[in-house]
Amino acid sequence: MKPIALQTLADFAEGRYAAESLVLPQSVTRVTTDSRNVGSGDVFVALAGDRFDAHDFIPQVVAAGAAAVVVSRVDPAWDLGACLVIEVPDTLLALQNMARGYRAWHQPLIVGLTGSNGKTSTKDLTALVMGLKMQTRATLGNLNNHIGLPLTLLSLAEGDECGVVEMGMNHPGEIKTLVDIALPDAAIVTNVGMAHIEYMGSQDAIGWEKGTLPANVHAEGVVVLNANDKYTPLISRHCQATVFTAGTGAGDVRAFDLQPGPDGTRFKLDFSGEVVETFLPVMGDHMVGNAALAACMGWAHGISPADIAQGLSQARLTGGRMETKTVQGILFIDDSYNANPDSMKAGLVTLASLSIPGQKIAVLGRMGELGAHAQSGHEDVGRFAAELGLTALYTVGDEAALISQAAQAAGQAETLNFPSHEACAAHLKKMLQPGDAVLLKGSRSAGMEKVLLHFQSA
Ligand code: ATP
Ligand code: MG
Repeated sequence: MKPIALQTLADFAEGRYAAESLVLPQSVTRVTTDSRNVGSGDVFVALAGDRFDAHDFIPQVVAAGAAAVVVSRVDPAWDLGACLVIEVPDTLLALQNMARGYRAWHQPLIVGLTGSNGKTSTKDLTALVMGLKMQTRATLGNLNNHIGLPLTLLSLAEGDECGVVEMGMNHPGEIKTLVDIALPDAAIVTNVGMAHIEYMGSQDAIGWEKGTLPANVHAEGVVVLNANDKYTPLISRHCQATVFTAGTGAGDVRAFDLQPGPDGTRFKLDFSGEVVETFLPVMGDHMVGNAALAACMGWAHGISPADIAQGLSQARLTGGRMETKTVQGILFIDDSYNANPDSMKAGLVTLASLSIPGQKIAVLGRMGELGAHAQSGHEDVGRFAAELGLTALYTVGDEAALISQAAQAAGQAETLNFPSHEACAAHLKKMLQPGDAVLLKGSRSAGMEKVLLHFQSA
């Protein structure tokens, strides 16, 4: 972070120095909540989780050289040495308040990003594009919640001009909390799908929740919405910022003429009349849609189409998102990071559209957080897969068996369900040949990348 007076941070946190602390005009450069990762001069915020209470680690944190600790209770047994104590009623709220204050003090351009699918991928692409013009920092990995988002804002360094922050949600009201901390100048909604429907109730509720982000971008700001999403007109009506749309086949920034290959997709990007040839080294039409959103955000901030196309050709995404790995001549598409019916379908279409002579095999695990839609969601994916002409569709685990059963009933040539990743890998090893392609996909809890690990250790 940019060096900031501890007193200023304490003011943002609405904290008070514990009586015995010596108040020194000290500047700090890092705020952390990870007690294992505290360095000399850091500010440590002691959060209390379900499984642990970080107040228990204060002695270690002090020993590691923390300049200050933000706590909600002080234990007289702590030997604090020169470490300052900032006492607050609620440490999580203090972290969020610190982040909001720091963001307002630092004054970067903040691009907020939400949606049902593709937030992290689009965040990576947007950071790449914005980085062509401005020194940019983005959410690390997937740290998109009420703790990760404040930490991301607090990590904005001196000289950073733009922060691209991912905002996730599983429950109503969560996006508003994040928006109130990040105060975004610009926003992207990737799409409104079925992710987290278990807690959200309906797709309309999800659409409404996602719309909270763009609706709270100020009038001088920019909003980029998905031209292919049915909720875009509704969300757009609630925006005061300038709204652009981007997508495949439609939008102010429009991707067209898609030519998929095993190393990525070639396509044209039309920036409202200016067309550039583009290559995205990531598989999947859905990733081209994400790239169009990112390109549009850059374009709205004055970055040229030619520079954007050049930038996108260097894209690298966070792992487990359409990550291709060739092992023994077999192309594995590792999309195992997460899954819901929409992203399952996107992954399956990507596999099916590969123009290779070899076998195309989908290896799927369960999808979580579908609630009352669990059975229908799995069966829907199975029926969808059966239409694609894949060589085989395999599933791992009881819940995922609903996919293979529905696929079989719908005429899928070969389907099998395996009790374990190991059993599935053993079967694959017998049948795979160089030149084949395998899609690995399921929710995080399904750990479908484990199939590949068995393969690699063979
Ligand atoms: P999370 O909610 O877990 O943070 P996310 O919204 O950040 O997820 P990503 O991590 O980018 O999304 O991708 C998750 C999965 O969704 C991956 O399998 C990816 O291939 C797929 N995906 C990415 N973009 C899209 C899209 N536009 N439509 C459908 N699926 C997508
Ligand atoms: Mg994410």
